[in-house]
Amino acid sequence: MSEQQPSERPNAVSNSSVLSAYDDHVMPIWKSLNVPVKRAAGCTLEDFDGNEYLDVFSGISVVNVGHGNEAVVEAAKAQLDEFVHGCSYVHPNEPVADLAARIAEITPGDLEKTFFCNSGTEAVEGAIKLARKYTGSKEVVALEMGFHGRTLGSLALTGNNSYKKGMAPTLNDVAHTAPPYGYRCARCDGDQCDASCADELERVIGSHTSGDIAAVVVEPVMGEAGIVVPPEGWLERVQEITHDHDALLVVDEVQTGYGRTGELFASNHFDVEPDIVTQAKGIANGLPLGAFTASKEIADAFESGDHLSTFGGNPVACAAALATIDELEGGIVEHAREQGEWLATELQALEDEFDVVGQTRGLGLMWGVELVDPEETGPQNVSPRPDSELAAAVSKRLREESNVVMGVGGYYKNVMRFQPPLTITRSELERAVSELRTALEHLN
Ligand code: PMP
Repeated sequence: MSEQQPSERPNAVSNSSVLSAYDDHVMPIWKSLNVPVKRAAGCTLEDFDGNEYLDVFSGISVVNVGHGNEAVVEAAKAQLDEFVHGCSYVHPNEPVADLAARIAEITPGDLEKTFFCNSGTEAVEGAIKLARKYTGSKEVVALEMGFHGRTLGSLALTGNNSYKKGMAPTLNDVAHTAPPYGYRCARCDGDQCDASCADELERVIGSHTSGDIAAVVVEPVMGEAGIVVPPEGWLERVQEITHDHDALLVVDEVQTGYGRTGELFASNHFDVEPDIVTQAKGIANGLPLGAFTASKEIADAFESGDHLSTFGGNPVACAAALATIDELEGGIVEHAREQGEWLATELQALEDEFDVVGQTRGLGLMWGVELVDPEETGPQNVSPRPDSELAAAVSKRLREESNVVMGVGGYYKNVMRFQPPLTITRSELERAVSELRTALEHLN
């Protein structure tokens, strides 16, 4: 058969044919970051028209050990040949057994038992059910600006109205406390927060709840809020207040887990021992898997039939997760930590150089670059006004002129997000930073 050029092929797939099918038949997508993907390897995405992009967003912080990681692909293929599905809660299988044991080893503290589901939001909702069952209490406190998912339970915890418009009512009895967002902290008048800002939790429990709390749910580093890293002692104080109220500390590591912050779990950066850790995103390098892990005592509050998921703990996804953890422990977490240190210095240079860069912050390979209008005062009448238009323009330019895919996030949608595959090379990172500098120069 003679080879046809792509354009001569009948019904040739192109970016526009895929996008048009999406328009017709897929419910709305996130239009602002719209790069069709045909295939991907390492940190490179290829679209249907043959264009290549440097991916510094990892499919929203998921492919931590790189697109197409060989060990992960091989592990998944081997399990596909064995069997694909039996429902892991009906047919106990080796990948689930091995992965649960492995997670007990690698999670912080003495967490021992895991429930497997399919996504982050399910992990958060399952964790709330477990906390309710264990404590006998119902109410939950989460952080303003925090993100925990979009199903109706997790959406109630998500501390950002923009995700809730037209969706209420969500889960009842959720109160919100102030996040450790030093750049715009209401409590400390715009100065850098310190651990005492966590005392707001005590006030919120006192004034917005019955005092009978099942759980306080926090992201150790807030992802969707714009990469917010708490100050020293803040998370420790949150843990103390939570336990004073006989509630469980649920640490949502959906975005921060599996090496993202230069530790296997971000909780390891702090002196805390979470009661429940939620996981998803990076756990299986892109295969759908979520999980929450608790101590034996807490986990045993669930009796048979209390919680179940048909697809949860899919053996192929669990086999991929085991290979992902091997890869992470085989040097990738360390690599992320080292590259992150270099990136921190480079981003600080951008902050010094450009007035529109209000603050850069992060850990490991999870970094945010907050863009502002330096001329105008912003929230709390202290910090410069957040500028979401600048961030949208920078992201668009990076994609269209530089073939770099960089996420935008933040409560005010004004934060550029560096969350590349943790395997990213120094030269790829250099390219991403240099293209970001060029995009910032073009704003003037
Ligand atoms: N928790 C956190 C901290 C997240 O960042 C996210 C996703 N951005 C979720 C929960 C929800 O995960 P999913 O989209 O897999 O439901």
